[in-house]
Amino acid sequence: MQPGSRPFWMTAALGAGLIAVSLGAGFAAFLLAIFATNQIHFWAHAERRPPLVARLQRRGLILSPRHHANHHQPGYASTYCITSGWMNGVMDSQRLWDGCERIVAALGVPRALDEESLQEEP
Ligand SMILES: [Zn+2]
Repeated sequence: MQPGSRPFWMTAALGAGLIAVSLGAGFAAFLLAIFATNQIHFWAHAERRPPLVARLQRRGLILSPRHHANHHQPGYASTYCITSGWMNGVMDSQRLWDGCERIVAALGVPRALDEESLQEEP
């Protein structure tokens, strides 16, 4: 071993530690994004919301109740984006949500909110 160089095991341990920290940080960011998305969706339904949130909704930076109301119209197969809604136009015009629903249906998950199921009596 040359003077000043580290043994291999130390370099490997350092690398493994960096990978573990990076994965942990990435997972934490993922969880935070899930939380934020759910909170933004909640605010799109809430009758009362903090003034800052209402301002962000009015400016279109986060999902507004008005925009999100389109998703809850009969058919229930459009405007699925629940964070900002910015991608809904593209996703809807290209029928990408429909494609996603077909993939999920092919995996055996029923399309619970299709027109027929909405008209069935309980
Ligand atoms: Zn909703």
